[in-house]
Amino acid sequence: MSRNAAFKLDAWPLALVRRLLPCSCALCGGAGEAAVCAPCAAHYLGGAGARCRCCGNPVSRADALTPCAACQTERPSYDATIAAADYAAPIDGVVLQLKFGGVLALAPWCAGAIRTAILAQSGFELPNLLCPVPLGPGRLAERGFNQALEIARPLSLALGIPLKARLAIRALDTRAQSSVAPDERKRNIRNAFIVAPDALDLVRGQHIGIVDDVMTSGHTLNELAGTFKRFGAARVSNLVFARTPPH
Ligand SMILES: [Zn+2]
Ligand SMILES: [Zn+2]
Repeated sequence: MSRNAAFKLDAWPLALVRRLLPCSCALCGGAGEAAVCAPCAAHYLGGAGARCRCCGNPVSRADALTPCAACQTERPSYDATIAAADYAAPIDGVVLQLKFGGVLALAPWCAGAIRTAILAQSGFELPNLLCPVPLGPGRLAERGFNQALEIARPLSLALGIPLKARLAIRALDTRAQSSVAPDERKRNIRNAFIVAPDALDLVRGQHIGIVDDVMTSGHTLNELAGTFKRFGAARVSNLVFARTPPH
């Protein structure tokens, strides 16, 4: 064995690697191989109530097939939303660890949760192309990765739907929506996106699935969906890991 080979972890016995690199559940801290252990996944993802098929907000079971009152009053630019979980403790910790802690191993787990939520919704029409919500160049340079793209990659594989990472691009480097007052968010994100010039033919007449980690006010997804619609998309669905419940 060469000297370098001795330092390649994949040449080591798996049991030894596990001892050296302990993996723990992001929610309970218990040891295990999965990013989130099975009991935590079942506890925090299972049993979610019905959601509005359009915006993903909670509705009573009886209303689940019709858009919620807010969506009936003002129809969003997107047509459907799948959310795997509410953005609330302790699930928000998964997003924070992924986004700000750089625990990229959580992204495939989030993708798996979105896939499960898709399969659980009867009659959900699958998109024919996926794209992540793009980050502005400033934020991408700061963070080093786009968490939405990290989730979109394994989701694309799991669903067998092609991914176009640069289908949309940021035309404006807007302030983070979380740093803007709620009543300013719509304006902050307006005209923030364009369809990439080399992707115009990919959008026309297609059903685009926009992937993101968290949907809060929905303004960002609405703006991006509106952009796709202006460029001829037939349908837009949001595929998000967590949805912030309304106040
Ligand atoms: Zn756990
Ligand atoms: Zn709704």
